[in-house]
Amino acid sequence: MARNYSGDNGLVFPDAPGTYALLLRCASCRRVSIGRLGVLQLRPGWYVYVGSAFGPGGLRARISHHQRVARRPHWHVDYLRRRAQLVAVWYVCGKSCEHEWARSLGAMPDATIPMAGFGSSDCGCPTHLFRFSPPPNRFAGRVNSLAQLPGVENVPTFLL
Ligand SMILES: [Zn+2]
Repeated sequence: MARNYSGDNGLVFPDAPGTYALLLRCASCRRVSIGRLGVLQLRPGWYVYVGSAFGPGGLRARISHHQRVARRPHWHVDYLRRRAQLVAVWYVCGKSCEHEWARSLGAMPDATIPMAGFGSSDCGCPTHLFRFSPPPNRFAGRVNSLAQLPGVENVPTFLL
């Protein structure tokens, strides 16, 4: 069952390394510079980004980074995060399956690629960012299908 939380409330994610997916919501149309990658035309809808965290602090450190708006963007998603709300997080500990998740997301009905190469500069994936535009009443089903990404250990953790 999804649980609801409000904002930055001390949620603790595992220190373990692993793979994660962020669900972001964009409410309006905007153009966002994504560093050297170029300009992303954001449209209202839902964006899912997949990444992995194998540095110090593991998933906990990385997800808490994404909960804040980075003053100096480092990853492509840091630029997007300035203009989109972080709604939910999925993760799996100890496994690097971001590319597998990217393939699974890209194969979902209605998934579109908003910007080629986003988050995938170092791999062969077309992108690590996908956009969905389900109306709200279909969104619960979308969340459940995301929770079936290979290896996902947890129900989505809702941050909003
Ligand atoms: Zn990849």
